[in-house]
Amino acid sequence: MDVEILTVGTELLLGLTVDTNGADLGRALAAAGIRVVRRTSVADDQVQIQDAVRSALERTAALVVSGGLGPTRDDVTKHAVADVLGKPLRHEPDVLAHLEELYRRRGIPRMPEANRSQADVPEGATVLTNRWGTAPGLWIEDGAGRLVVLLPGVPAELRGLFEHEVLPRLKARLEAAAPAGPAVVRSKVLRTTGIAESALADLVGDPARLIGPSLTLAWLPSYEGTDLRLTAWRLPAEQADAALAAGAEALRPKLGPYCYGDGDADLAAVVLDLLAAQGAHLAVAESCTGGIIGQRLTNVPGSSRVFSGGVIAYDNDVKMHVLGVSAETLAEHGAVSEVVAREMAEGVARILGAEAALAVTGIAGPSGAVPGKPVGTVWIGVSWREQVRAFTHVLPGSREAVRRRAAQWALDYLRRIVGGLM
Ligand code: ATP
Ligand code: MG
Repeated sequence: MDVEILTVGTELLLGLTVDTNGADLGRALAAAGIRVVRRTSVADDQVQIQDAVRSALERTAALVVSGGLGPTRDDVTKHAVADVLGKPLRHEPDVLAHLEELYRRRGIPRMPEANRSQADVPEGATVLTNRWGTAPGLWIEDGAGRLVVLLPGVPAELRGLFEHEVLPRLKARLEAAAPAGPAVVRSKVLRTTGIAESALADLVGDPARLIGPSLTLAWLPSYEGTDLRLTAWRLPAEQADAALAAGAEALRPKLGPYCYGDGDADLAAVVLDLLAAQGAHLAVAESCTGGIIGQRLTNVPGSSRVFSGGVIAYDNDVKMHVLGVSAETLAEHGAVSEVVAREMAEGVARILGAEAALAVTGIAGPSGAVPGKPVGTVWIGVSWREQVRAFTHVLPGSREAVRRRAAQWALDYLRRIVGGLM
């Protein structure tokens, strides 16, 4: 079964409110095996809402709407939907009595006049009692089998109504349509780093040949890398899990050394585990990343068994006097250079007595570029037991992007070196 989501609210379009209802509905519907094929947001405007409802019903014939049901906005959503479906509003005394009772229980003897309109219901609609607020939800089906579900915009009310009133009805509708058994939508993620999305796509080739027709593949790039998300749509749970396991097994060899884990694997945790297996300790010397690597490592519970600590060596004085980088090296090559990255890594490994060390020195921008060293130039030093190696990149993006990418590269070089992948 396919549905569309329509979220109503001028505040959503202005960016003043983030559309969490759309996201919550998307997750909940997917988990129930219902595919969301489109999500639209419109302003609190009768014409816009009518237009969106009409075209959603033409395309998909099933629609879940959030927002604009309250008494303060003259019920724009309800009127618009009633109009499109050709169902006039009828006053429902039962709903009114329920609302009045709600107010009495809250110690307010007289219900505000504005709430009366909430008892007006499109003909033939099922009223979904709202135990979390006043605006009732509405479940409206027409003769042609088309479905519109109206839910209030307040997130807690929407979630309560969806779970207790809407989901059971949707499941019944699903079962009526597909008596073979409940289907699920499940995903599995493979995490990669150290390779651009497009280069990764070249490695993977035609995904359909690898993963088969029952799965889809989504590419999710971020500063830290690209996640590949496999999704099984509307299969019985066991079949979905089997398809995902087979798909991941087919995909993983194509990803080579770039894949560092699945699910919510964290690169910092992967590195710590590799070092723990060797009984090794890790120290860091951070210049342009200013502690990002230390933060990522200490975010991992239990990291203290591996992570000794670090030095934020921002000023050259700290590089020299704490880490022992030589003044001649700095003067001759500059702080952002291969030799300095090496000397920083060696220095912090020595003073903290660690078998492994990472050092990062770079130009995060927006200023600071010098001839031959543009903004984004980063040198990473990696010390592992007897060997010290250094790597350079010119990283794209904002200051934040450069710093986060540099931290990720540093952790990934250590993963690959300790893991024997390079
Ligand atoms: P009620 O009048 O019962 O509160 P309503 O259906 O009229 O409900 P709105 O007035 O549209 O709802 O929104 C109520 C609150 O919920 C507002 O604070 C609004 O910002 C928030 N809200 C509305 N839509 C969303 C959404 N899609 N995601 C997150 N918050 C939302
Ligand atoms: Mg609103």
